[in-house]
Amino acid sequence: MRIVAIFRRELRLTDNPLLEGAEQGELIPVFFLDEYNQQEHGDNLRALFFHALRQLQQSIETCGGRLYVVPLEEQERFFDVARPDEVRFCEDVEPHSRERDDELMNLLARKGIRYRVLRDSLLSPIPEITYPSFTQFYKKHFIQHVQPEPPIATPAYLRTPLLDVPTVPIPAVDTEPACLWYATEEQVQQRWQRFVTTTLPRYGSLRNLPAVQGVSRMSPYIRCGMISLRQMLREAWEVSEQFVKELAWRDFYSHLLYHHPETVNMELRPEWRGFPWRHDEQQFDRWAQGQTGIPLVDAGMRQLLCEGWMHNRTRMVVASYLTKNLLIDWRWGERWFYLHLVDADLAQNVGNWQWAAGCGADALPYFRIFNPLLQAQKFDPNADYIRRYVPELQHATAEQLGDLQNLHRAFPDYPPPLVSPEEGRKRFLQVAQQFFGEGVQEKLPLDRE
Ligand SMILES: Cc1cc2nc3c(=O)[nH]c(=O)nc-3n(C[C@H](O)[C@H](O)[C@H](O)COP(=O)(O)OP(=O)(O)OC[C@H]3O[C@@H](n4cnc5c(N)ncnc54)[C@H](O)[C@@H]3O)c2cc1C
Repeated sequence: MRIVAIFRRELRLTDNPLLEGAEQGELIPVFFLDEYNQQEHGDNLRALFFHALRQLQQSIETCGGRLYVVPLEEQERFFDVARPDEVRFCEDVEPHSRERDDELMNLLARKGIRYRVLRDSLLSPIPEITYPSFTQFYKKHFIQHVQPEPPIATPAYLRTPLLDVPTVPIPAVDTEPACLWYATEEQVQQRWQRFVTTTLPRYGSLRNLPAVQGVSRMSPYIRCGMISLRQMLREAWEVSEQFVKELAWRDFYSHLLYHHPETVNMELRPEWRGFPWRHDEQQFDRWAQGQTGIPLVDAGMRQLLCEGWMHNRTRMVVASYLTKNLLIDWRWGERWFYLHLVDADLAQNVGNWQWAAGCGADALPYFRIFNPLLQAQKFDPNADYIRRYVPELQHATAEQLGDLQNLHRAFPDYPPPLVSPEEGRKRFLQVAQQFFGEGVQEKLPLDRE
């Protein structure tokens, strides 16, 4: 039996459905280089992704096999030369990937080649419907379908025939932030195991503190498939339900994008469409460069610029500040994140941005506006995170950090607030009230944060 395994986001040998039973016949691993992805993705993600692809190439060669890297335009010729009995690839929820997969399935059907669509980047099957809330999704779908499964055996050797097909080199992209994340599959495993033994049991209480090592930092490796989600679920199952829920959020947003591809650039909730978001380039730029004068926001945005990654708590705070306090279009923030995150994932990014802006699934009600000062007091009480990423505030005391009016005076290198949380909040509520109608007034509670 000759199998072609198309690698996309599953760049590993361990627990990989593409490699199930690979030792029993000939296996032809292939990566089709798609120009669309080159244009669409930011350099940080591309750098890590191609690094992971090179690692995979080496691991496959160590097993005696060979990875073919073929331009997508040569796909048909590749199949004509490879003449497989079966083609395997994994499902993908992104709109462009689904179009690509439809074309691939048509091509294979035309050529009479059998194919199997496998699941790897999702834990649960895509439901027929979307659930209105995460809680319902978790109880009625995720927990019903997901159970720890035994790992898929890792092949010890691979037999790949030599084929005369056009190949291209793996693109060479390097960025400083991405370099911080480069790792082999083995090193990713070691980092994961360290997290499981030292942090996972306390994940529920540590996961919101950006200054400490309280989260797994696995998202970039999940994005490239350097670690198996099934393995993570299996090893977290008995230890932390909270962690399992975070993995479920990932499925929730992926399923949502599958059923609502329009949300890539449109609000999920129709009542939000046409909301008068602002498009102020200067203010956006100050947000993007971490120069808003709001310490926790700037710390988060600067972490993104230097590491290509940001802690989830600060992702929520900076997204709320951009959309609610500055009233700037969530699409601008989504794009900035997408181009800079080393874990950039369309479904997760769009879903979370819409959640923070109030216009997405299970979203924060529009009147719930994070106060970045209170968030800092609660989740970065010693300001360690702020001081790490905002050196101008190295010597600021907790009291000074909470006094925005005077912070700039005490530390002139640090900018004055672009818009104070209170001012921004009032403006947002006024605009929202006007947009949604007078009836919402009585629903407005006091600031919840
Ligand atoms: C505005 C905004 C944009 C985001 N954009 C992305 C993105 O492009 N790519 C991305 O992978 N995540 C995104 N997230 C979700 C989340 O912030 C990251 O997945 C998480 O911070 C990654 O760190 P970790 O691996 O240490 O997470 P852990 O806390 O260790 O969680 C383990 C895994 O659970 C999943 N997970 C955790 N939180 C979420 C969440 N809120 N939504 C979906 N899945 C989650 C991730 O796969 C994560 O790796 C975004 C969140 C916000 C608020």
